Amino acid sequence: MQFEKSDRLKKLPPYLFVEIDRAKKKALEDGRDIIDLGVGDPDMPTPKFIIDALAKAAKNPATHRYSLDQGIPEFRSAAAKWLKKRFGVDFDPDTEIYPLIGSKEGIAHIPLAFINPGDAVLVPDPCYPPYRSGTIFAGGEIIRMPLLEKNSFLPDLRSINHHLLHKAKMIFINYPNNPTSAVCDKKFLKDVVDFAKKHNLLVCSDTAYSEITFDGYKAPSIFEVEGAFDAAVEFHSLSKTYNMTGWRIGFACGNASIIEGLAKVKSNIDSGIFSAIQRAGVTALENYDRHIRSVIKIYQARRDILVDGLNSLGLHVEKPKATFYVWIKVPPRYTSATFAKTLLEKCDIVTTPGNGFGEQGEGYIRMAVTVDKKRIKEAIERIRKRLA
Ligand SMILES: *Cc1c(COP(=O)(O)O)cnc(C)c1O
Repeated sequence: MQFEKSDRLKKLPPYLFVEIDRAKKKALEDGRDIIDLGVGDPDMPTPKFIIDALAKAAKNPATHRYSLDQGIPEFRSAAAKWLKKRFGVDFDPDTEIYPLIGSKEGIAHIPLAFINPGDAVLVPDPCYPPYRSGTIFAGGEIIRMPLLEKNSFLPDLRSINHHLLHKAKMIFINYPNNPTSAVCDKKFLKDVVDFAKKHNLLVCSDTAYSEITFDGYKAPSIFEVEGAFDAAVEFHSLSKTYNMTGWRIGFACGNASIIEGLAKVKSNIDSGIFSAIQRAGVTALENYDRHIRSVIKIYQARRDILVDGLNSLGLHVEKPKATFYVWIKVPPRYTSATFAKTLLEKCDIVTTPGNGFGEQGEGYIRMAVTVDKKRIKEAIERIRKRLA
């Protein structure tokens, strides 16, 4: 039988990666030697000390039952301690921190707690897709904030249409940014907080890449800015920092009433993170200092090879200060889709066409340095030989 899908599913923006997904699948089936720069998923394994902590915890039957809504207190305290050490900010682990089954889940669910049909949400364009889908599932409308190269891929808050703004209840920001790899400073975050307070907006700051930063740049938390606790929640993830994408663990922190709303939605939908994973998460957070430098070093070396290589091919790309992405303007006469398709067909290289992240992503492709240095060098040589 075929069943009619709900209106909310029909309202989702079209999935624009269909063609590239199909072409990639076909290339793999044909046995071609594909270099996949498409996926935003670390290729390196989770560090052994974290796996060991999981194995030990999993043997303890106390971890086998439903974890309480708020999760185990040790995880919230470890998150609070890490936030204090990393950003110098105090959070109450009982009211201002909440565990998430990966930050994507929290991001997609939060509109259900605060958005009514007819309300609007300010969403960057291009963006990580759950900001859009979460808003649509809650019946909200999307007000797009273009991220333009001439503005360093920061939204221009002053240019947002005032007639639309009165409907807005929430704003998403994401720095370090996926897909553009742009970063922001505290001055920008202060502008966002002031803007949000002026217009009664709830700020959702997604910091999934806050720890993958280069050349001495340190990503700030919005809570380093005065007044942020009045209006903001921040989404942290262990996925990219500790190569733990498959484990599903992250946390929200910030304004207690926002956390309370999100918690209420979640308590009606899920029953928490496997406690053994939370215990491993405690170990991960406690050992941040000894772990993070090696990860940064690896991505930075790969970034340098990719960006230097692309520049040697005549594509002008600056070295991103953060994330494992490089956001590349396509050469003249190409679109995002045709350039991605050409790279796949002629060079067996998978990339992500920028238009899949939003209209303003048209004219760009995204490459992820989630393959080793040798493969990145190989990718550059293939483009030089087969496309130049
Ligand atoms: C990867 C990613 C996330 C979330 O990852 P989780 O595994 O769900 O914690 C959130 N935001 C952005 C922008 C990402 O790229």
